[in-house]
Amino acid sequence: SIETILDVEVTTLPPDKLLADINAKIKQKQKGRIVAINPEKIMMAQQDESLKQLLNSSAYKIPDGIGVSIASKLGGGQIRWRVTGVGMMESLLELADREQHKVFFYGAKEEVVKGAMENIQKQYPLLPIAGYCNGYEQDEQKIIDQINESGADIVFVALGSPRQELFIERNMDKLNASIYQGVGGSFDVFSG
Ligand code: UDP
Repeated sequence: SIETILDVEVTTLPPDKLLADINAKIKQKQKGRIVAINPEKIMMAQQDESLKQLLNSSAYKIPDGIGVSIASKLGGGQIRWRVTGVGMMESLLELADREQHKVFFYGAKEEVVKGAMENIQKQYPLLPIAGYCNGYEQDEQKIIDQINESGADIVFVALGSPRQELFIERNMDKLNASIYQGVGGSFDVFSG
């Protein structure tokens, strides 16, 4: 279930199957990270072997942007959809609400992450929000402890790229949550 564009892997599961797969992973308490693949990252990875490794070693490499489905089509591939980072986050929130998976928000300024959380809770009154931490806390161990103590299943990390991807890669072994997504400026979007 993978296509390769210039040595960068992209998940070919369509959105509904992708979410079903993620749901199964959470229920089995397995871990996986989600990265958004766009033409910009594919080009950057051509000159950056460690970025290429980071992308290819992620469990879910979602086709973010029309450029990836165009490249897929030109290469004889099957991807005809796009899943943006914020769209993926919305789908995960919906899944979490339905399945009662616990979510944690890490990143952005205190008022932004709080605002995002409040708006999301309004949209999904029964969504189990495990906790949050702003993106300017310097004590990494404290953040890890907080996420683990919260019992979160899904962690959204909004520190911007590549900081968020590096945080996830560096700490995934120490964290107990199942699914990790770097979401860039999405908390700013949700906070309105
Ligand atoms: N951010 C953070 N800690 C930092 C640097 C940035 O929490 O040390 C947050 C910033 O407040 C913003 C988010 O990262 O909410 C995304 O930043 P940006 O829009 O630059 O990321 P991109 O979406 O371009 O990757």
